[in-house]
Amino acid sequence: MAAKKAPKSSQRHEDAHDTSAEYLEAPSPAKHNPFESMLARFDKAAEKLQLDPDVYRILRQPDRELTVSLPVRMDSGRIEVFTGYRVQHNIARGPYKGGIRYAPDVSIDEVRALAAWMTWKCAVVDVPFGGAKGGVICDPLKMSATELERLTRRYTAAIADIIGPDRDVPAPDMNTNEQTMAWLMDTYSMTKRYTVTAVVTGKPVGLGGSKGRRTATGFGVEFVTREALAHWKIAKPQKATVVVQGSGNVGGIAAERFAALGYKVVAISDVNGGIYNPKGLDMAKVMAHLASKRTVAGFGGAQAVTNSQLLELPCDVLVPAAKEDQITAVNADRIQAKLIVEGANGPTAADADAILDRKGVIVLPDILANAGGVTVSYFEWVQDRQGYFWEEDEVNTKLAKMMKAAFYDVVAYQDRYKVSTRIAAYMLGVDRTARFTRLRGLYA
Ligand code: GLU
Repeated sequence: MAAKKAPKSSQRHEDAHDTSAEYLEAPSPAKHNPFESMLARFDKAAEKLQLDPDVYRILRQPDRELTVSLPVRMDSGRIEVFTGYRVQHNIARGPYKGGIRYAPDVSIDEVRALAAWMTWKCAVVDVPFGGAKGGVICDPLKMSATELERLTRRYTAAIADIIGPDRDVPAPDMNTNEQTMAWLMDTYSMTKRYTVTAVVTGKPVGLGGSKGRRTATGFGVEFVTREALAHWKIAKPQKATVVVQGSGNVGGIAAERFAALGYKVVAISDVNGGIYNPKGLDMAKVMAHLASKRTVAGFGGAQAVTNSQLLELPCDVLVPAAKEDQITAVNADRIQAKLIVEGANGPTAADADAILDRKGVIVLPDILANAGGVTVSYFEWVQDRQGYFWEEDEVNTKLAKMMKAAFYDVVAYQDRYKVSTRIAAYMLGVDRTARFTRLRGLYA
């Protein structure tokens, strides 16, 4: 039987990133290093906190980096050898936690940055986890489902010694989904000889997954947007215009929720480009169009825009929910949004921060704005360990409460230290992690 082709990216459940955004046009030819972007903000936060230099040196480096080579038999019968990583950044607050991404441009510096962001993110929402991230260099859009399954099983076997419910708990990220997590859980369980659901989150509901996990990141984006609009008196939700870059698990779900609650979503994109209607898009119809055509392009009554034009549209709220380094020193000055809510990890390069600050653009940074995903991952892990599962309402109510608390915790740091929301969020994440590091002290 011919191997079934992997579903098109628009139908997958990627996390914190939409679709295979490597095809998005970069606004700048300059190469940004995400780990350096992370460190630039970390250093500012550490300085403002007057962080103890010993703790500073500990938190600046990942605890452990594992590189694995993964021989996989392809459908053609040939063997291809892929490279995979798992970077464990910090364990002070609890087991390492963070997703796994599959993409051709995965690099160790990207995985390092993403791992550190998980440490700060988990601390910002105050879930008892540290930070980690995994990645495999591959082109999932060119691989069949059976090839992806073999790759996932081999990667899991290769990292099995360093993961586990009390060690390191992976989850979905770009180009991985509920099915990937089910394969990971099964492979890990086979090595243990019993079923271990809590080794990974983002699993299918019924297989140890949590209700509300799939929508958690997108809902979380809206929860913090709502607080920000009210707190800084930017606009009433029913009057706010919203532009969303990306239409997958983060952008698509956030846009649907925004529209359902009466915000006016004026533009949305996928990897190939976007659509714009200043009068507002009928999001239910856009999502139906996307599901059948696998692109937002060609949606009636809207004008086509490129992904970089989309970022510069007039709006109250801009939600970059695709991938890193979309807003840089090159285009930051042209951003017209009043509020940027980072659905993706690292969509703003560090060289854009000062420009946005000067323009008075408020940024809800990734480590706050997209933390809904890992928050419900935490709920999933708790449910797996209890063997008792919650209703969707309960999940969403608890999520809303935690996102709101995190938002006001960030605002408190901002007010106290007179810094941008991004640096305030870093300060909160670093401060909470540093506190645990000091309390635990050094082993040996
Ligand atoms: N990949 C998601 C993120 O970047 C979710 C991580 C998780 O649930 O562990 O936040």
